[in-house]
Amino acid sequence: MDDSGAPVATDFVREFVKDDLREGRYTRVCTRFPPEPNGYLHIGHAKAFSIDFGIAEEFGGLCNLRFDDTNPTKEDVEYVDSIKDDVRWMGFDWDDREYYASDYFPQLYTWAEQLITDGKAYVCDLTADEVAKSRGTLTEPGKASPYRTRTVAENLDLFRRMKAGEFPDGARTLRAKIDMASPNINMRDPVMYRILHATHHRTGDAWCIYPMYDWAHGQSDSIEQISHSICTLEFEIHRPLYNWFVEQLGIFHPRQIEFARLNITYTLMSKRKLRRLVEDGYVNGWDDPRMPTLSGLRRRGYTPEAIRSFCSRIGVTKIDGVVEIGMLEDAVRDDLNKRAQRLMAVLRPLKVVLTNYPEGVTEELDAVNNPEDAAAGTRKVPFGRELHIEQEDFREEPPPKYFRLAPGREVRLRYAYFIRCEEVVKDADGNITELRCTYDPATRGGDAPDGRKVKATLHWVSAAHAVPVETRQYDYLFRVPNPEDTPEGQDFTMHLNPDSLTVITAQVEPFIETLAPGMSLQFERQGYFCLDKDSTPAHPVANRTVSLRSSWANIEKKMQK
Ligand code: ATP
Ligand code: MG
Repeated sequence: MDDSGAPVATDFVREFVKDDLREGRYTRVCTRFPPEPNGYLHIGHAKAFSIDFGIAEEFGGLCNLRFDDTNPTKEDVEYVDSIKDDVRWMGFDWDDREYYASDYFPQLYTWAEQLITDGKAYVCDLTADEVAKSRGTLTEPGKASPYRTRTVAENLDLFRRMKAGEFPDGARTLRAKIDMASPNINMRDPVMYRILHATHHRTGDAWCIYPMYDWAHGQSDSIEQISHSICTLEFEIHRPLYNWFVEQLGIFHPRQIEFARLNITYTLMSKRKLRRLVEDGYVNGWDDPRMPTLSGLRRRGYTPEAIRSFCSRIGVTKIDGVVEIGMLEDAVRDDLNKRAQRLMAVLRPLKVVLTNYPEGVTEELDAVNNPEDAAAGTRKVPFGRELHIEQEDFREEPPPKYFRLAPGREVRLRYAYFIRCEEVVKDADGNITELRCTYDPATRGGDAPDGRKVKATLHWVSAAHAVPVETRQYDYLFRVPNPEDTPEGQDFTMHLNPDSLTVITAQVEPFIETLAPGMSLQFERQGYFCLDKDSTPAHPVANRTVSLRSSWANIEKKMQK
């Protein structure tokens, strides 16, 4: 069952795991989530680790957290820490099984010597460019390196000297000796080690040769006795190579299963590109609420439950596709509807003076905290002679079907009274500055004892008690559904939406001052919000998580333009 109580559909990955257990290929399930610590996690990673941790849990197994840290120049402990925070925040736990590919560097080195000794790897002096060129194409076989025939003794000697630091960066590589004519280019003598005199965030300067991802990944899985190594489709073509390595070494053989990456409209899913947005200042950091990172979504007001429910709704398939961002928004809406504290907030205030209400009097009216959750109770909202309502809730000349306030018309103020607009006050330029209204004391709480009806209920705040709150209204970061689709010579930054952030100071009922950062809110009729992590009582800041209603209609409109 997912968080909404719907049964989790089974999928091909779970079917494979079930078959493997039934047929005894593996006796227990062990999975892993293997991020490279070169950026913050995004929601695509959440899909991946929901599958990794989810399957382990469902089959009574374990899931490890393993950092694939084979690339010292791009990695950093800041990323390691953020990844751990995000996985934990999503509600998953790896106990003490926190592993690093870099912990396996000595073992990987020993295995490399074993392959050399067995005549299955050699030291090659071609440059990276020459290796790339000699590997051939899909239609042409590769050309053997002139160094392919070196003797075992020479290879061992050179490899040891590579490790000892005798050669400069890029001077030599260690390559697997497989098949230069293989239809799978990954099998054409792939590089296993490169020389890189770089300081690693964990191993320091202990190494100046670093394993390639393809050499490290499968063996790391094997060392941890991972039964099911679940990854995205781009690794399908690497699977024969991973199999070849474990078979040559005669070590534990995991089963790799690939699924389709998550893509979502109006955003990007690549750490490299997200990093560009951060480093070039297009957003305010990795946790900018416009980012598809987990830290951004968290700051935006997304809950782990909403993200998990989204992941179970999209399911696991082998078909590459793009999910409408509306699906993600629907998931958070459904979740916040159940948990958000309701408040009244006026974004664009219009002053209302109740001419028949006594001056200097404040009443405390009862308001419901969450109509979806009786246990959330009620709160007091101050009411007085001067109020703010929303500018758009008044029209001097109401069009047909506009039922809100207009001259001579009566409406309900939520949790308060009926009011009638008696007079419109304007400044010298003809702008409306104030409405003078009367209220009906008999309608306290919102209903008329004589049974008369009104067609609209408006939210409001007492002018004397309103708290100014900086609200950050977000739109999509990109103006087009697929920001990666660019003409030649241009990149995704051309599609950035210049209006993705608008700041509006709202007038909010004073209850907001009692709430802690991170709290989920619904500003009635306005949307779901969340108090920003930097919000303080002296300067409250609220991020708009999502509008109240589905924006699918808007998306369709935008796409037709
Ligand atoms: P990126 O291009 O964003 O850096 P990556 O695949 O290089 O992604 P890793 O840190 O290597 O990022 O990924 C860790 C795991 O998360 C891998 O198993 C990878 O397949 C998975 N993953 C990454 N992006 C997605 C995505 N968009 N959808 C589903 N799984 C993903
Ligand atoms: Mg990567």
